[in-house]
Amino acid sequence: MIQAKARCSFCGQPQGPSLPLIAGEEGHICEECVRLASQVVGSWGRKRAAAKPLRNLLKPTELKAELDRYIIGQELAKETLAVAVYNHYKRLRIENDTPKMQVGEPEVEIEKSNILLLGPSGTGKTLLASTLARVVGVPFVIADATTLTQAGYVGDDVDSIVGRLMDSAEGNRELAEWGIVYIDEIDKLARAGESSHGTRDVSGEGVQQALLKLVEGAKIKISGKGRKDAADEPTIDTRNILFIAGGAFAGLEKLLAKRLDGGSQGIGFHVDLSKPREAYDQLRLFEEVQPDDLRHFGLIPEFIGRFPVITALHDLDEQALIKILTEPRNALVRQYQSLFDYESVQLAFTDGALRAIARQAIARGTGARGLRGVMEGLLRHVMYEMPSLDGVVGCRVSEAGAEDVCEVELRYEAQQPTHAGTGETA
Ligand code: ADP
Repeated sequence: MIQAKARCSFCGQPQGPSLPLIAGEEGHICEECVRLASQVVGSWGRKRAAAKPLRNLLKPTELKAELDRYIIGQELAKETLAVAVYNHYKRLRIENDTPKMQVGEPEVEIEKSNILLLGPSGTGKTLLASTLARVVGVPFVIADATTLTQAGYVGDDVDSIVGRLMDSAEGNRELAEWGIVYIDEIDKLARAGESSHGTRDVSGEGVQQALLKLVEGAKIKISGKGRKDAADEPTIDTRNILFIAGGAFAGLEKLLAKRLDGGSQGIGFHVDLSKPREAYDQLRLFEEVQPDDLRHFGLIPEFIGRFPVITALHDLDEQALIKILTEPRNALVRQYQSLFDYESVQLAFTDGALRAIARQAIARGTGARGLRGVMEGLLRHVMYEMPSLDGVVGCRVSEAGAEDVCEVELRYEAQQPTHAGTGETA
């Protein structure tokens, strides 16, 4: 009797064979209402998760200290990024905390500061952007500008970036809207030379045009893979997404040198020989970049205008590469040491060996990215043999007589090390 009368206390539907109810102390609830309640509670959780990065916002000095743990050198870029990211999220916090005004616009609207990173390949641009996202605790995606095309052409259209950001936020729209997007190889979008006039530039300038809207702030529909109803396609507002674009800008140094030299060095009758030709540091040339130089390089002014913070990363010298090998939390030397540890072999490098490895990487011309290749080449054979050998307890890499050549020696149980540890790093 009592059961027949029971109704869902939320929607009022009566209990029936097709509508079982869960009984509580004073009421009942049906399956549909449980689902609805779960959705509501889920959205609270998402909102709380999205607000977390804002609550725990680190100050610029703290942000930089975190970056220092992973990235060697690049002080200017780290400081600039720490300030830009702090201001970006501070702006979101102000927006979030200020009750929405009923009439009129807010008095001061702080605009977002997307960031342009200039610097040779393998100097830490991607590492900086991804470390920042991790430190701040927001979703992060890397897009490659060379694979992007205008909508309608073969390739990824720019809106796909937002879809990937949503995936990285595990479907949490609020969190995705505060994420960071890193667009790599932005320099490859530079306007093609005058000669290509008349052909449609769908991957260069066309993509710059297509990115404008996204970077500025647009409502993008996430294409509904497997979604039944196009109407419930979620849209993402990109207004608060922080865009960081990076590129090597090869050739820009020539434009810069010309501008800095006043374009007259060495030619003509009035050459001022007292002025040092290298008055600026070649490694840090990109720190002199002005928006106009980027325009000459081939970026369109509207695009440059949307990246008001421009900062440069410099080439890494031998000293910096040695630090990269040994100092960051997941430094390469540490990574190989833990690989060797699994075999109970202690891996050690002499200072000379580290210098030789750094010099070999410089010769490859791919910045710190070359280090892993050099290390692999050096240790490949010993990693191949070692697991099958008995009694190996140590492996020592030292600089051999000839320049930049390293020697790898194994040490066996109950055997004295051949050269008693000169300048070992670990
Ligand atoms: P790019 O500037 O081309 O984006 P990446 O950030 O991808 O270069 O760097 C490639 C790899 O080189 C990184 O994964 C990292 O291991 C190493 N690396 C590059 N620069 C630095 C740096 N300044 N400090 C520490 N590691 C670095």
